[in-house]
Amino acid sequence: ARRCLSCGNCFECDNCYGVCPDNAVIKLGPGKRFEFNYEYCKGCGVCVAECPCGAIKMVPEEI
Ligand code: SF4
Ligand code: SF4
Repeated sequence: ARRCLSCGNCFECDNCYGVCPDNAVIKLGPGKRFEFNYEYCKGCGVCVAECPCGAIKMVPEEI
């Protein structure tokens, strides 16, 4: 399993929020960027592919 972490270059384009099929991306409000709900995230990687600035990284899940 994999999970995603936002790293610091997000400019709030909302792409990841819009494309996530599992509603795992949580909007924190203007200037506050986003959180990922790992209970919902299936690790599909669509948000990573659609982020225009590489702000989201997939990392192996620790069990
Ligand atoms: S990896 Fe997939 S399920 Fe997880 S936050 Fe990104 S788009 Fe949503
Ligand atoms: S797609 Fe990337 S830049 Fe756009 S809101 Fe998501 S993390 Fe931020």
